[in-house]
Order: sequence, then structure tokens, then C-alpha cells
Amino acid sequence: MSGPRPVRAPRGTELSALGWQQEAALRMLQNNLDPEVAEHPDKLVVYGGTGKAARDWRSFDAMVRTLRTLKQDETMLVQSGRPVGVMQTHEWAPRVLIANSNLVGDWANWEEFRRLEALGLTMYGQMTAGSWIYIGTQGILQGTYETFAAVAAKKFNGTLAGTITLTAGLGGMGGAQPLAVTMNDGVAICIDVDPRAIERRIEHRYLDVRADSLEHALQLAVEARDQRRPLSIGLLGNAADLLPRMLAEGAPVDIVTDQTSAHDPLAYLPVGVDFDDMASYAAKDPAGFTTRARESMARHVEAMVGFMDAGAEVFDYGNSIRGEAQLAGYERAFAFPGFVPAYIRPLFSEGKGPFRWAALSGEASDIHKTDKAILDLFPENESLHRWIKLAGERVHFQGLPARICWLGYGERDKAGERFNDMVASGELAAPLAIGRDHLDCGSVASPYRETEAMLDGSDAIADWPLLNAMVNVASGASWVSIHHGGGVGMGRSIHAGQVTVADGTALAGEKIRRVLTNDPGMGVIRHVDAGYDIAESVAAERGVRVPMREG
Ligand code: NAD
Repeated sequence: MSGPRPVRAPRGTELSALGWQQEAALRMLQNNLDPEVAEHPDKLVVYGGTGKAARDWRSFDAMVRTLRTLKQDETMLVQSGRPVGVMQTHEWAPRVLIANSNLVGDWANWEEFRRLEALGLTMYGQMTAGSWIYIGTQGILQGTYETFAAVAAKKFNGTLAGTITLTAGLGGMGGAQPLAVTMNDGVAICIDVDPRAIERRIEHRYLDVRADSLEHALQLAVEARDQRRPLSIGLLGNAADLLPRMLAEGAPVDIVTDQTSAHDPLAYLPVGVDFDDMASYAAKDPAGFTTRARESMARHVEAMVGFMDAGAEVFDYGNSIRGEAQLAGYERAFAFPGFVPAYIRPLFSEGKGPFRWAALSGEASDIHKTDKAILDLFPENESLHRWIKLAGERVHFQGLPARICWLGYGERDKAGERFNDMVASGELAAPLAIGRDHLDCGSVASPYRETEAMLDGSDAIADWPLLNAMVNVASGASWVSIHHGGGVGMGRSIHAGQVTVADGTALAGEKIRRVLTNDPGMGVIRHVDAGYDIAESVAAERGVRVPMREG
């Protein structure tokens, strides 16, 4: 009988598979479940509520076994976390193809998903959980850092010094918020109902201190703000209870957002329920739990709107909390914007997005060498330099050492090819897995998040992520995935991912050049098609072909 056990990816250069492409998939699957990386590894849950790396332990074992014997011209097919076939393909084809959590339109709701999940027929893949390129909280750190930097640029003269940000959710992704705020020199109060989430973030140095009470948190925050000293403060409690209280008491908050797992009503604790009873209540009465969670989210969002009315900068951080509050009948739920239209869309229009890589050697020194290569490659990019320097100093590696930075069209391929050369020359101790989040410029359709308020109204068009996956397969990615639901929940998004392995061979170099050009190229053409001027200029300047603009 296979069951929970600690999983850790092998390190070093000894292969347990027949080639580095397969070995990389194997190590990254295992790395996703490393207790340092995954939020609940014994349940195969990596992050984002119930985002899993494998459907069950038997499926995990079967994937490990299959990857170890998979040949260079074979492809393993994964259906929602379970390996369902091995097909003969060819050397340029991906070694793994993954489809997670996809349901036909009219059936794509939580109720039907959970019915199928209970029958053992599907699992929730989130974004990088089921596609094996989650790198711990750092993965989201850089995006969160960029977002808070954009807030600072828009409203606070380029710095968060002297401001207080209020947010909730210190989980796998939300845990990046306190560090992202302090990296921008601000003060953050971060609420979570789970004391372990607070402790974990302090242990990983993402969070500075824990307050004993709301009054204590406010006192610490105001002191630090007045001294323009960065500080992040963890506060135990329910956001739906604390935010309305803080609003009523006139708490001096400048910025409000949220990263509780609101996209999944069974992962959001309703007011009046003890944290210790959460799991059993959700399992016993999912419908009752959902109703109460949505009512609490309505209170939570109502308080966020109250802070907005009082002059704070308020945005939805991609967890569907506005949609859930609206379902509970709160009419002003969409009064504040999502973070993508508010801050990120111009970056997406340039093909920029969360590029990341992991050192399969397990050596931190490999990442430090790649950091240096990135600085050498892009000497003129100041914010990139600032990020790489801060990340080098402050990011605690979880699992295999990894790095993330946002790069655009014409940049990712350069970095990838340089990395492959560094593997070939022996400068790096072993190959790298190069991938990205599904939250990228041309890889997702998500009307409450990445494609909210598109210029041409094409928010819900899901052809783009499907084309993205297909072009990555055609370009030589090592594994490619198509998921449904992700960070915003069932029925609300379709998105694709790719990982390409730099193993130092000439073939890998060829694949990397194509994948890392075409993948961000999807972001450029998607935004040209929707009428964004920045995308038009990028396409014209950097030679991205768009047939409807030719002739
Ligand atoms: P997670 O499940 O690891 O953590 C969620 C945290 O919220 C937990 O620590 C939980 O204790 C806490 N929580 C639940 N109910 C609460 C309540 N009522 N009050 C206070 N705390 C409460 O999830 P995660 O990986 O951190 O992701 C958080 C959310 O952000 C998800 O909805 C995810 O889909 C979304 N997300 C956004 C982005 C983005 O780019 N903005 C990216 C990934 C994920």
C-alpha cells in the first residue's frame, strides 16, 4: 500500500531516469512535494487551497516509476494527476503532457468537480502544483514585489516608506506579501487564521514579527510607519472579523488587498467557526460551509470597499474574493479593480511575465551563477538588478534552489540559451529546469484576473491558452500542461504551462530558443489582437509577425 511519506528530489548528477528531460520532470514532481516546498505534502497538496501535484499516492508512485523508464522518444500522458498512457512520439516532443481539472463548460462548477473528485476521477491542479514547477513562496514573491512597486509608483511617489498595507492570507502564495511590502520599504499587517502559517513565514524570514492583538499590531505598524522603517506584522484572526473592526475604528491603512484562498469557498474560514473545526466542518457539510464562507467574504469585501471609500488604494489580488462576495449578494463587490488591469497589463503587453528556473544539482551556487549571468545580460534594467540583488540577500530557498524574475519577449530566450551554455561548459553543476507560472502574458484566460477588462472585451476567450500550449508542444518544451480553475476557481479560468530543460546539449539549445521566443510571443500577439499600443510597438520593433497587421 502506498501512502504519505516524506518526498525529496534527488540532487547531483547521477541520473535515475534515461535522460535529463525525464529526470527533470521526475525531480520537479518530487520537489513540488518536498515538505520545505509543499503546504500539505502528506495530502499531496502543494499550494493554493487544494492544488495537488498528483491525484493520489498510487498515481504518484506510478508517475515516478514511469518517468524512470521513459525513453527519449516517448511521452507520458497525465490526466488530472494520474498517468494514463505512454505513447511513442519523437525526440522534439514533450516527455510529459498534462491536463488537469478540465471540465466541459456547463459542468465546470465546484459541485460537479467535487462529485468527480470524490469518485477519484479528477484533482485540482492549481497552476504550478499539477504542472511541477512550483518553487515555493519565492515564485510569487517577485510578482508581488512588482505589484507593490507599481502601487508605490502610482500612488506613493515610488516608495511604500511611510505607508501601511493591510492584507490577509499567509499561505503558499499569500506568504510573499509581507516581504514584498518590506522590500518596497513599507509596513504590512498580515492576518491569518492559522498560527502555523504565521510561524512558517517568520521561520522563512518572509514575515518579521507576530503581534499579540489587533491593538498591538496597530501600535507596531504606526511606530514603524512614522519612522519610515519597513516592518511586517503577523496577526492571528479571521479577516472577515478583523477588517470590519479596523474600518470601524478608523485604522490608518493606506493600501488594502487579500490573498486568503477565497477562490475555493471550502478553504476560506467563515466567521464564528474555529480554525481547528474547519476541515471537519467543510467535509461534513460542504454546502452549509460554502454559504457561510461566502457570507463572510461579503463582509470582508464590504470592509475593503469601505477602506477604498475612505481613500485607501484597494485591489483584488487574484483570488476571486469579489466574485464570491457577489455570489453572497454584496452588490458593490466589483467596486475596486483586480491587480492585472490596475498594474500588470502594460508588462503583459511587452510579453513580460514570471520566468523561473530551478537548479537540478541542488546547489545554491548554481543559482548564484545564473543570477550573475542575468545581471550581465541585462545591464540596463535597473529594477531587475534591484530584484536580483534583494532576492540574493533575502530569499530563503525552499527545496531545489531556484530563481524567478520577470523577463519579456526577446529576453527569455537570451537567458535560456546562456543558461544552456553554462551547463554545457560545466560552469553549472547540473542542468536547469526553466519554466514559468501559468499566470503569464499569453497563457491564460481568466476574466476575474489576468484577462479582466481587456480593451476589446475578449476577457473570456479561451482560445489563447490552448494555442499557447500547442505552440509550446510544437516548439520542443519538455513538459506542457493545460489546466482549468487555477487561482480563481472552477469555471473561471483556463491556462497553460511549459517547462523546458537546459541540459547543455545542442538540441536543448534549439528547443530553448524556440520555446522561450514563442511562449512570450503569445503574450505579444494576444495583446496586439486586443488593441494594446505597447504590444503593437513591441511586435513592430522586435519582429513578431501578426498576419492581420501585414499586407
Ligand atoms: P493557501 O491555501 O496556501 O493559503 C491561504 C491562507 O488563507 C491560509 O493560510 C489560511 O489559513 C488563510 N485563511 C483562510 N480563511 C481565512 C480567513 N477567513 N481569514 C484569514 N485567513 C484566512 O493559498 P495561497 O497559495 O497562499 O493562495 C492564496 C490565494 O491567492 C488563492 O486564492 C490563490 O488562488 C490566489 N493566488 C493569487 C495569485 C496572484 O498572482 N495574485 C497567485 C497565486 C494564487
